[in-house]
Amino acid sequence: MTDQKLNTVAQLRANGTFLSLSRQQAALFAQPLDFILDNGTKVIVPCEGIIVFEPATISNKDIVYSCGIHGNETAPIEICDELVQQLLTEKLRVVHRLMVIFGNLPAMDIAKRFVEENMNRLFDGEHSNPDVPQNAERVRAAKLEQEVRAFFMAPSLNKQDEQGARERFHYDLHTAIRDSKNEKFAVYPFTPGIARKPEQVAFMGACGVYTILLSNSPTTTFSYFSSKHFGADAFTVELGKVHPFGENDMSRFADARKTLTDFATNPVFQLPDYDSDKFLIYHVNQVINKSKGDFRLNFDEDVPNFADFQRGFVFAEESGRQYVAEQDGEAIVFPNANVEIGQRALLTVVPTTL
Ligand SMILES: [Zn+2]
Repeated sequence: MTDQKLNTVAQLRANGTFLSLSRQQAALFAQPLDFILDNGTKVIVPCEGIIVFEPATISNKDIVYSCGIHGNETAPIEICDELVQQLLTEKLRVVHRLMVIFGNLPAMDIAKRFVEENMNRLFDGEHSNPDVPQNAERVRAAKLEQEVRAFFMAPSLNKQDEQGARERFHYDLHTAIRDSKNEKFAVYPFTPGIARKPEQVAFMGACGVYTILLSNSPTTTFSYFSSKHFGADAFTVELGKVHPFGENDMSRFADARKTLTDFATNPVFQLPDYDSDKFLIYHVNQVINKSKGDFRLNFDEDVPNFADFQRGFVFAEESGRQYVAEQDGEAIVFPNANVEIGQRALLTVVPTTL
């Protein structure tokens, strides 16, 4: 190892500041780095903002936590930063392989959702769409996919005669732009041909998330990518509303922090049983894309996610077209009239069961 690498490893082990080094001195991680902690954990840094912990004894679970895919969604970044610090300084140790991803470092630096483009629309290959010019977010999305694939498909752990032997998990952690009637909620990606898992919904409950949105079509989100390609149990988890770094009331994230930490580090981690009475489950009814420049939403900026409307209510309109509630209780999620033409401006959802 070069002196500079030794120095970087020493800094990481002394104070665990992987995220701040990634943000402030990304060049330190221009070449992959690996080292072993005193407790036997192997640490691998493939590039800035991505770190892998492997226990001395490998279990059958591989876990990915990603955060900061949107740079201003600070609470999950703080949760992951703290977990990484505790692992590097050996206050905690992993019992399963764990990859922690800090997604959009330049967007964090400017405290914005993104620099040029919403990264969570760039997965499952969209980053390389030949019809769209490249940018830093597209390059980064491709890199994240490459590293997640390398992590889940590590050749030494995925021998041909052990198909399906490994359990894979990916929780992509976010906070929402607007208030939500159900402050925390999670999107369960489309899993064609595979039953939804009650125990995964119970895991969301243990994270304090009791509203689950079942997606029923392919998409270009990070969690869908891991679900589709690696059979991972994956969710996009919305943990509350966006606040600046250091201004989050972290007590509101205590359940998520504890459960995510326990899952990776507690050898006797136990989930509560799934109790359907505790959850609100929705499925997507309409995906409304903005197709004209005059697209507008027919409700106020401050109407929360999951606010519901009567059948016939006009959610949105644009030249030549109205978008109408098809049933009573149809609710809105992720409204944003300021997206590019051709992009999703609104989802509507209706109650269902698992
Ligand atoms: Zn987000």
